[in-house]
Amino acid sequence: KDDDAVDAALLARRQRLLGASYRLFYQRPFHPVRGEGVWLFDRHGTAHLDAYNNVACVGHCHPKVVAAIATQAATLNTHTRYLHETILDCAERLIDSLPAPLEQLVFTCSGSEANDLALRMARAFTGGEGLIVTELAYHGVTQAIAEASPSLGSKVKLGRSVRTVPAPVDRGDGVAAMGARFAAGVQAAIDDLAAHGIRPAALLLDSVFSSDGIVTDPVGFLAPAVETIRCAGGLYIADEVQAGLGRTGVLWGFPRHGVRADLVTLGKPLGNGHPVAGVAGRREVMDHFGETARYFNTFGGNPVACAAALAVQRVMAEEDLVAQAAAVGAELHAGLGQIAATTDRLGAVRGAGLLAGVEVLDAKGAPDAALAQTLVDGLRERQVLISATGPQANVLKIRPPLVFNRTHVERLCEVLEETLGDLLETWRDR
Ligand code: PMP
Repeated sequence: KDDDAVDAALLARRQRLLGASYRLFYQRPFHPVRGEGVWLFDRHGTAHLDAYNNVACVGHCHPKVVAAIATQAATLNTHTRYLHETILDCAERLIDSLPAPLEQLVFTCSGSEANDLALRMARAFTGGEGLIVTELAYHGVTQAIAEASPSLGSKVKLGRSVRTVPAPVDRGDGVAAMGARFAAGVQAAIDDLAAHGIRPAALLLDSVFSSDGIVTDPVGFLAPAVETIRCAGGLYIADEVQAGLGRTGVLWGFPRHGVRADLVTLGKPLGNGHPVAGVAGRREVMDHFGETARYFNTFGGNPVACAAALAVQRVMAEEDLVAQAAAVGAELHAGLGQIAATTDRLGAVRGAGLLAGVEVLDAKGAPDAALAQTLVDGLRERQVLISATGPQANVLKIRPPLVFNRTHVERLCEVLEETLGDLLETWRDR
C-alpha cells in the first residue's frame, strides 16, 4: 500500500512536470533505484531480471565503464575542436571492427542524430532526396527522421520524399524468394519516387527490423534490396543502433546478410548508457559532405563520451561478450522454441543472438496484442522485464544486456512458462 502511494505520487508529479508525449512501460510502472549486471533493483532491494535493456550491453553500471567515465569527467571534458587521443582511440577501434569500405566516423549524441546526419550525407552525395524505409520503421526523433519513422503512429505525417516498403517476411519459401519480395517493394518505392520526380538518396534499414516485429533470418535476404537501391543511384544506410555491438551474436548486424553498407549509424549500446552515437561511412561520402558542409556537435564525441565508448569496447573484448551473446542466444532461442512448441498461443520465435521475438496468438491463431501485453505485465509482476513490439504489438521482445547467461535464460523461460500457464488457466475459468 505504501509502495502504491509512493508510486502514485511520482506518477502524478511526472504527469505535471513532463510532456504528455512520454509513455511508461507496464500497467504498474516499475521504479528501479539501482542497477548491476542484468539486475535492476527496486527500493526494497528486490532484484528484477532485465531482459530488455540493450543499452546496458556490458551490464548495468559496469565498474570499468563507470570508472572510465568518472576518471575522464574528473580530468577533462570538452569538445571536438581540440586535439584529444581518446576520440581517436575510440574511432580507431570502432572502424577496425567495421567491414570495408567503412573508414571514417563522425560522432553524435544519439541514434536519431546519427540517422539524421547519415540522411544529410546521403542526400549530399547522391544529389537525390528520396528516402526508403520499412512500413513500421523507427529511426528516431529529429524532424526529418520522425518523418521517416512510421512506427510513431499514423498521426505523424511521412515526409514528401519518404516512401515505405513492406518489411521482409519469411514465408518459408527460402532466402531467394524472401529477398526478391523485399527488393520488389524497394523497386516499387523507387518507381513511385521517380513518378513524382524524386531521385532516391538512400534505403535506410534497421538491420534487425526491430519495430517491424524482429526479422533477422534467413541470412542473406537483404542483398537484393541493397543491390536495387545501388542500381537506382541511392546509398544503403545500415541502422545498427539496435543491431550493433554484438546483439545478434556477431559484432554487426548487416554483414550477416553478406552486404556492404555505404553508411552505418551507431548508438544505444555504444556508451553502455552514456550518450555516444555516430555515423561510420565510406571515405568518399564523408569527403563529399565535408566539402559541402561543416559539422559540429557540441557534446558529440566529447572526451567523457569517448572514454565510455572505449571502455565498453574493451570490456566487450575482455569478457568475450559477442561469443557469449551467440552461445547464450542459442540457448535462449532453444528455450523459447520449447515453450512455443507446448502451446498454440505462442507462434514463431524470431531473432538471433540475444535478440528474440515471440509471436503471441489468440485461440484462432491471429495476433493477440492483449495477451502479449498481459504477459509482459505478468512477467513484470514476477520480476522479469521484457516488452512487446511489431505491427500488431503481439511480438514479445526479449533483448537483454549481453552479460545475460544460461541461468538467466532458465529463469526467464521458467517465468514465461509459469506466467503463460497461469494466465491461460485464469482465462479458461472465466
Ligand atoms: N534507430 C533505431 C533502430 C532505434 O531503435 C532507435 C532508438 N530506439 C533509434 C534509431 C534512435 O536512437 P536514439 O533514441 O538514441 O535517438
